[in-house]
Amino acid sequence: MANFGTCETPGCEASAKLQCPTCIKIGIQGSFYCSQECFKSNWKTHKIIHSLAKGENADSKKEKAYDPWPYYKFTGKLRPFMQSPLRTVPNNIGRPDYADHPKGYPLSEQAVKGSSQIKVLDDEEIEGMRVACKLGREVLDEAARVCDVNVTTDEIDRAVHEACIERECYPSPLNYYEFPASCCTSVNEVICHGIPDTRPLKDGDLCNVDITVYHRGFHGDLNETFLVGNVTDEHKNLVKVTHECLMKAIDIVKPGEKYREIGNVIQKHAQAHGFSVVRSYCGHGIHRLFHTAPNVPHYAKNKAIGVVKAGHCFTIEPMISMGTWRDEMWPDKWTAVTADGQFSAQFEHTLLVNDTGCEILTRRRNSTGLPHFLDKF
Ligand SMILES: [Zn+2]
Ligand SMILES: [Zn+2]
Repeated sequence: MANFGTCETPGCEASAKLQCPTCIKIGIQGSFYCSQECFKSNWKTHKIIHSLAKGENADSKKEKAYDPWPYYKFTGKLRPFMQSPLRTVPNNIGRPDYADHPKGYPLSEQAVKGSSQIKVLDDEEIEGMRVACKLGREVLDEAARVCDVNVTTDEIDRAVHEACIERECYPSPLNYYEFPASCCTSVNEVICHGIPDTRPLKDGDLCNVDITVYHRGFHGDLNETFLVGNVTDEHKNLVKVTHECLMKAIDIVKPGEKYREIGNVIQKHAQAHGFSVVRSYCGHGIHRLFHTAPNVPHYAKNKAIGVVKAGHCFTIEPMISMGTWRDEMWPDKWTAVTADGQFSAQFEHTLLVNDTGCEILTRRRNSTGLPHFLDKF
């Protein structure tokens, strides 16, 4: 029989015959008692050492244990983290109608839902779009500056929110159908509409930041995928090809072209590199409304309605995936992920059609005009 020494109960000198089972389990040394009676009489004070020993562990477990949907089977490795409370926009900044709707419904958009009529912007509206898109670009550049290893997407959202306010912009995503943040951050297998949260970005992540700002009655919409730290060559190639898809599509935009041709150009290029085109999310008309006609699919042989005309304003925003084109949604009803958990990338511009082609209203205004990922490619 093991030598347990004497009982730990103060004043009891009897030889110890048993050890606290909880202490054995946790790995605490000692805790020897002569009898159940002595053990029980000591229990109230003894059990404190269990919680002390577990204390540090319990806290770190609590963080890891954030698991809002225990029955959901994730398609990839990414998991949701806690979100920060809703941010507010000062009242002196003009707001879209859905900002104050209890369910975030954009009533002005819903009023023309189902119509395929595309608005032709007048000179004043064109100027409004130019300004909103230029400000949107500045906000995205701020996000690019912040995005890095160990930075959380919530910190990116805060930077975006503050950059919007500094420029007298309302961050369009905020409360749009109750979306809870000021931009979308879509990491790795997230295709689009990811919600910023407290997960720190990791070396090798892809992080798309989608910005829309609302300024003096007009929305400007763009997104870029950023490389976080050292990204693998195959993921870098996905990002590069996705950007090429967008630029090749923009090249064909001119009066007389059919909206349905855009998807043919994008899929041809994606497929040539072994990638697939997401089908569930499309480009859209944008001006006084965030999302409206035309609908602009990015995949081939689509049946999009409409012919491009000078004065039209719309986005192209291809989402290109490594594996399957199929998507599914997290239980938060926003986060769209690839059905096979492989990575997806996206780029977006807002375009204004002119007489000979189009103006990229959300273009980067540095010397190169190239997207941020190429700065460190
Ligand atoms: Zn966007
Ligand atoms: Zn968009």
